[in-house]
Amino acid sequence: MNNNIKTNTENKIIDGRQVAEKIISEIKKELKLHNNIKPGLALILVGNNPASEIYVKMKEKKCAELGYYSIVNRLSEKITEAELLAHIRAYNNNNKIHGILIQLPLPKQINEMNVLEAVDYRKDVDGFHPVNAGRLMIGEKCFTPCTPAGIHELLKRYNVETSGKNAVVIGRSNIVGKPIANILLQKLKGANCTVTVTHSATGRISDFTKKADIIIAAIGQAEFLKANMIKEGAVIIDVGINRVEDQTHPKGYRVVGDVDYKACYKKASLITPVPGGVGPMTIAMLMKNTLDSAMKRIYP
Ligand code: NDP
Repeated sequence: MNNNIKTNTENKIIDGRQVAEKIISEIKKELKLHNNIKPGLALILVGNNPASEIYVKMKEKKCAELGYYSIVNRLSEKITEAELLAHIRAYNNNNKIHGILIQLPLPKQINEMNVLEAVDYRKDVDGFHPVNAGRLMIGEKCFTPCTPAGIHELLKRYNVETSGKNAVVIGRSNIVGKPIANILLQKLKGANCTVTVTHSATGRISDFTKKADIIIAAIGQAEFLKANMIKEGAVIIDVGINRVEDQTHPKGYRVVGDVDYKACYKKASLITPVPGGVGPMTIAMLMKNTLDSAMKRIYP
């Protein structure tokens, strides 16, 4: 099957919504073929963070659309770490659950690393457990964090020439920056790049981005990457999700990425919009990872 998206020279947009829909339809086809498989996903939400609530609802909705078994466990902001770990252990031992996701951030009294490590790495569909992070780094089969996995999928399906190219990642978080840098470094289709990772201590980021063939912006700073920081023909992947005040919008704000989209569009050869670029891919890859877990493809 040809998974690649046809692009024409007029259209520079990497359409994450379209690719995500394609992945969801591929999952539906697989589920039809293996009708004895019912992937199960446990979503743990601690506290009342409005953004986390929205993300969990979106994931729950996608599970329902695909006919996955899903549990949403809403826990009090005041929960102790020991209590939270007990919930996770119960899902580790539940045969109907193939994936466990703890929506971050967690309240202050809870040590995030203890929580992520408590998840059975074979059910770690978010790819945050140190076993999966380590296996990703050495190029072994693993659950790959969903946002970086989605970016890789976009590069592959748009047939972006990546081998030997200069890729600059802006941001070094464990969720996006470091894992996407590790993926781009692997000898794989949609990767095999020369990778530079920049962050808040990097002097002049434009010294690096001006030479980049591919830029992944993941810093959470509205429209940080300007057109004068990129070269003609660069491929720009914008991970950022930032709210900026805008009284002309009914909600009083609009959502923008980490890239000055309008200006960079003119110079880029391909670019992801915000919204509609990387965002939709994240949930699609979560569904894919959960299916892979139910099918025991990563850890047989
Ligand atoms: P973090 O806040 O965890 O990390 C931000 C990184 O950016 C850090 O490494 C930080 O550097 C670096 N940074 C911050 N400001 C600057 C600056 N001015 N110059 C250079 N580097 C800077 O963020 P995440 O990685 O979790 O997320 C990044 C963005 O992506 C956010 O907008 C987030 O909402 C979005 N996001 C989107 C997802 C999606 O599905 N589309 C999924 C996940 C995140 P240092 O390490 O030195 O502090």
